[in-house]
Amino acid sequence: MTMIVTKELSKTYHDNEVLKGIDLEVRQGEIVVLLGPSGSGKSTLLRCLNGLETLTKGAIEINGVRLEAGMKNRAFKNNLLNIRKQTGMVFQQFNLYPHKTALGNVIESLLIVKKMPRAQAEQLGMKMLERVGLADKRDAYPSKLSGGQQQRVAIARALAMEPDILLFDEPTSALDPELVGEVLDVMRMLAREEGMTMLVVTHEMSFARNVANRVLFMDGGVIVEENDPETFFGQPKTERAQRFLNKIN
Ligand code: ADP
Ligand code: MG
Repeated sequence: MTMIVTKELSKTYHDNEVLKGIDLEVRQGEIVVLLGPSGSGKSTLLRCLNGLETLTKGAIEINGVRLEAGMKNRAFKNNLLNIRKQTGMVFQQFNLYPHKTALGNVIESLLIVKKMPRAQAEQLGMKMLERVGLADKRDAYPSKLSGGQQQRVAIARALAMEPDILLFDEPTSALDPELVGEVLDVMRMLAREEGMTMLVVTHEMSFARNVANRVLFMDGGVIVEENDPETFFGQPKTERAQRFLNKIN
């Protein structure tokens, strides 16, 4: 089953065409790592898939729900809501509410978006904190948590909405090196779970090598190259990918 489709997806800011006709398909359960230099359009692509950006041209389909450039009717609103519910997003900056506890952060959308009764939300929220290994931090405020713990709370918050797709935008880039491992461990655990589809922008090449089913390499708003990790890292086809890999190794 195909979970993510983009068809000739373009995104322009003012005169700057940032995505230039992206065609992409991701199957259910696939773990795809998105690589590419800064400014190549990786974050913009994720934001388009999450319904955080309007599309300039083309279309996306998330688990069969379609958004097209220029769509503006009621169907558009329904589809947009549907897509936001199905895609959880984890950002480089964890964006937790500072005045809410770990559990409070995890259940916020359950209360507000899903209108779930508090007791039920807390039960589900605790399950999600357990999944990321932070059940004992339920009452801790973000300022009392390490960066790695804060990011794990942010992952639990995304999981609480029970999305089919998780989008990660450089989830470990803001962390001190010694805290990166615990977040990657949680992501590895999620990747092994049946059915979870993940699209991950990261500079962690060991994660890309060991966990991804497929690597996409973007440059200048296009997908320049895609392959299984072994082939991509072992024998990159394009000169641009070779240059990129030489710089980070
Ligand atoms: P990446 O995540 O690969 O570093 P981005 O998707 O963040 O790349 O950005 C791609 C290009 O789009 C950059 O040139 C950036 O300046 C531009 N861009 C991103 N977001 C906006 C925005 N909200 N308004 C104007 N330009 C933007
Ligand atoms: Mg980015």
